[in-house]
Order: sequence, then C-alpha cells, then structure tokens
Amino acid sequence: MNILVVDDDRFIREIVSAVIQDADHSAVTASNDLEALEALEQGDIDLILMDVEMPGRNGFELTQAIRELYSKHWFPIIFLSAASDEQHYEKGINAGGDDYLPKPVSPIILRAKIRAMERIANMKKELDDANTRLEKLSSQDPLTKLSNRRDLEVQLLKEWKRSHRDAETLSAIMLDIDFFKPYNDNYGHQQGDECLKSVAKILKGSLSRSHDIIARYGGEEFAIILPDTSYDGAKKVAENIIKMLAENKLPHEYSNVADHVTASIGISSTYFNPITPNALLQQADQALYKAKENGRNRYEVFSP
Ligand code: GH3
Ligand code: MG
Ligand code: MG
Ligand code: MG
Repeated sequence: MNILVVDDDRFIREIVSAVIQDADHSAVTASNDLEALEALEQGDIDLILMDVEMPGRNGFELTQAIRELYSKHWFPIIFLSAASDEQHYEKGINAGGDDYLPKPVSPIILRAKIRAMERIANMKKELDDANTRLEKLSSQDPLTKLSNRRDLEVQLLKEWKRSHRDAETLSAIMLDIDFFKPYNDNYGHQQGDECLKSVAKILKGSLSRSHDIIARYGGEEFAIILPDTSYDGAKKVAENIIKMLAENKLPHEYSNVADHVTASIGISSTYFNPITPNALLQQADQALYKAKENGRNRYEVFSP
C-alpha cells in the first residue's frame, strides 16, 4: 500500500514512515493540509495516517475536506493523536476517520492496524471491480458485445443534451439486415448468430470516431449515434457500411437483392428538429422503412 503520513512533527513522520517501510509498504509524507492534498492529487494513496493537532487545518477538518473531495473513492484514514478522551475519539470518527490511535504510537499496534485496514481496502476494491464488471454486463449485448438498447438510450440522452448545449448536430442511423428470416431459416439459428457477430464487427470497423455509439437495438437491428455529425456525414457512414458489407461478402443465397448479406439503413439528425431523443430514432426508423420499400441494400434520409 501507498500510505500517506500527515504530521507537522518531522520526528513523528520519520518514525511512522520507518514502521510503514518495515511492514513492506511505501510511505509518502506531508507536513500540513496543503501538502497532504497535493499528495492525494498525485494519486494512488491507499491509506492515510493523520495527525490531529496541526497548524492551519487540523486533522479532523482536513479529513472532512478529503471525504468531500474524494466522495467516490474511499480509502481508510487513521488518526494519530496525543489527546485520547472519548469526545475526541467520537469527533474523529464523525469527521470521516475510520480508526484512532493514541500517541506515542506503538509500532506493533500500528502494523496490526495497517494490516486490518488493508483487508478492508482490498475488499472494497474487489467490490468496486465487481460493480464495474456488472455495470458493463448490464449495458452490453452478450452476442455482439456492442451496447444494448438500454445503454444506447442512456448514451443517446447524454449526447442529446451535449448537442443542445454545444449547438451541434447529432445524427442517428437505424440499420436492419435484409432477408434475415430466410437466412436463419436456411442456414440455421447458430449460423444466424455468427452472421450477427460478423455484421457487428463490420459496423464497428466502419466507424472512425471514438465517441460514435453503436448498439444492437433488437434482433437484427442496429442503431448508431453520431455526435457532432451532420446528416451529410451520416450519409458517408451509411455509404461506407453498405460498401464494407459488399466487400465482406458474407454469403446469403436466400436474399432477393444480392448474393451476400446486405442491410437497409435509415438516417435522421437533429437538423430535422425531432423533439425528443426517441423521436430522432423514430425518424431514422421511418427512413429505414423507406429504404426497405425502395428495394433494400440502400440508405434513405428522413424527410419531414
Ligand atoms: P427484411 O429484409 O424486411 O428486414 O426482412 P427480414 O427477414 O430481415 O425481417 P424479419 O423482421 O421478418 O425477420 C427478422 C428475423 O431475424 C427473425 C429471426 O429469424 C431473426 N433474428 C432476430 N433476432 C435474432 C437472433 O438473435 N439470432 C438469430 N440467429 N436470428 C435472429
Ligand atoms: Mg501535530
Ligand atoms: Mg427487423
Ligand atoms: Mg431484416
């Protein structure tokens, strides 16, 4: 662990640091509140050993400030203080501390406390990691690993707000694979799943900007959100997708439009003044319907 020792007394900083190094951890020291905040800013602190009586902000005040500043990132804070009455102890815990050690510090007890806090910090880290994994799973389509519809809606709302704030155009693409029912019926469902994975990969490869969002919207339908992109830009993306599908030639003998897997694409953008993010997707869906009507393996832009 990286342990931050905050104490205005150089002698104590040195003794405590020696105990920390002895226990195979590394020590960073700070002699006041500003140095402590700076050390935290540099990152990677796992535990703080905090003096209480210091000139400037005292240990309790500093702890309160740290808990506010780092509300999303918890690390244990242990107070070291010469005052050991009950009220003092209570005040320290209320300020956001986790434990309290009387000075002079016993090296054995300090080592034991560090070990106990390390256990808790590790459990907290595992919990955070598990939460991150769960969050990812709940926003991902398991077959294609693209965003799922739920995540798309969350991301779209964010981009919608950003586009309004920055007065930028946001475009949306809806894409539906052509004659996919005959594909499934003839090649089988498993082959159908493989095809969806391949199409997802091609779609991903067709986007060049890192903040473009691509999602599996449902069965064989995909949605793409293009922030800061005009509908002319979206047309280029659509043309590119159709071209890449043609180049990849995923065989489809049962399609009525080509001998490979193709898709129909609908485009809309905030240029057409949809009143909600959902309305933007509906406009793109209407354009998609038109692309199907007009013969598939093509794109159409929404017309009001
Ligand atoms: P169109 O050209 O008009 O889009 O016709 P289509 O056959 O593609 O459209 P339709 O909506 O009639 O059929 C979609 C088919 O997609 C139905 C189902 O067989 C297939 N499908 C949907 N989801 C999945 C999936 O997760 N895996 C597989 N293998 N097939 C799926
Ligand atoms: Mg002091
Ligand atoms: Mg469909
Ligand atoms: Mg289809």
